[in-house]
Amino acid sequence: MTESPRRSTDARVPRAVVTGAAGFLGSHLSERLVGAGWDVVGLDNLLTGRMENLEALLPHERFTFEHYDVTNFVDVAGAVDAVLHFASPASPVDYLEYPIKTMKVGALGTHNMLGLALAKGAKFFLASTSEVYGDPQVHPQTEDYWGHVNPIGPRGVYDEAKRFAEALTLAYHRSHGLDVRISRIFNTYGPRLRPADGRVVSNFLFQAMRGEPLTVYGDGKQSRSFCFVDDEISGIVALLDSDYVGPVNIGNPNEFTILELAETVIEVTGSTSKMVFEDLPVDDPTQRKPDISLARSLFDWEPTVQLREGLERTCLWYKAELEARGE
Ligand code: UDP
Repeated sequence: MTESPRRSTDARVPRAVVTGAAGFLGSHLSERLVGAGWDVVGLDNLLTGRMENLEALLPHERFTFEHYDVTNFVDVAGAVDAVLHFASPASPVDYLEYPIKTMKVGALGTHNMLGLALAKGAKFFLASTSEVYGDPQVHPQTEDYWGHVNPIGPRGVYDEAKRFAEALTLAYHRSHGLDVRISRIFNTYGPRLRPADGRVVSNFLFQAMRGEPLTVYGDGKQSRSFCFVDDEISGIVALLDSDYVGPVNIGNPNEFTILELAETVIEVTGSTSKMVFEDLPVDDPTQRKPDISLARSLFDWEPTVQLREGLERTCLWYKAELEARGE
């Protein structure tokens, strides 16, 4: 839970603006903030977000939603204490389908939300990404690593937008004294990851549950480190509450090859699915694992849900989703 409920010097409930509020992370974050006593104004253009993600929040008196594209000028009436910019396509499948929108929300959207934070005297929080490290040549990745990104490859639209967003965020801090936080989010999974999201955990779980072959891209020896969404949100909120300006890795440092993930998904679901091997996407990073020493030392955070348990919990949610859809 966030440590930022009511301020002792101010009886007013703190108020946050969350962009991408109908998305996977944005909806979990909004829920966590409302649960901790914040008023939350959620913004989303519903490009990849879903109103179903807000079902529990919409009736809440401290949550309001605006269907809005933050690449346009944004004004929010009244006081705002924190602006958390989580809007963006985040699955490679999505940002390959919407390359220009991805660049615009990372660039223009970040600029607009920084402007809003400055006008309101609010703290600004940027959801950045492990993709700023590209196909990393340093392993595990520490925050001081500058990365290895192909700026003109198909993933460049996301990677460079987020790199620009980080640079602009720190420019606002240096030029205007804006109080900023930057999380570099590593692969995260859990309930509300869209079945058709295209990321590996949702693909594998759905394929396994339907007895279809698991689509392993390349030879499956590339690695990722998967963080359960509740842990990710706890890290994000701890960073929001901290005093640290500058990027902080938030992810689970336990690393798995994609083949290991496929085997674990088959075990957890009790599926009879086999694997099929498909082409590796262009510029797919070979390995990825966060060094989370900084987060540990700053706010004593580390993930607590390990892969098997997280997959089980996600699987239960998908089962309920499939039942609700009558499948
Ligand atoms: N991947 C896979 N099968 C799939 C989807 C993804 O083997 O059906 C691989 C993908 O090539 C990458 C890893 O899984 O190496 C993670 O992909 P994802 O799209 O989840 O996120 P990324 O870390 O690439 O942003």
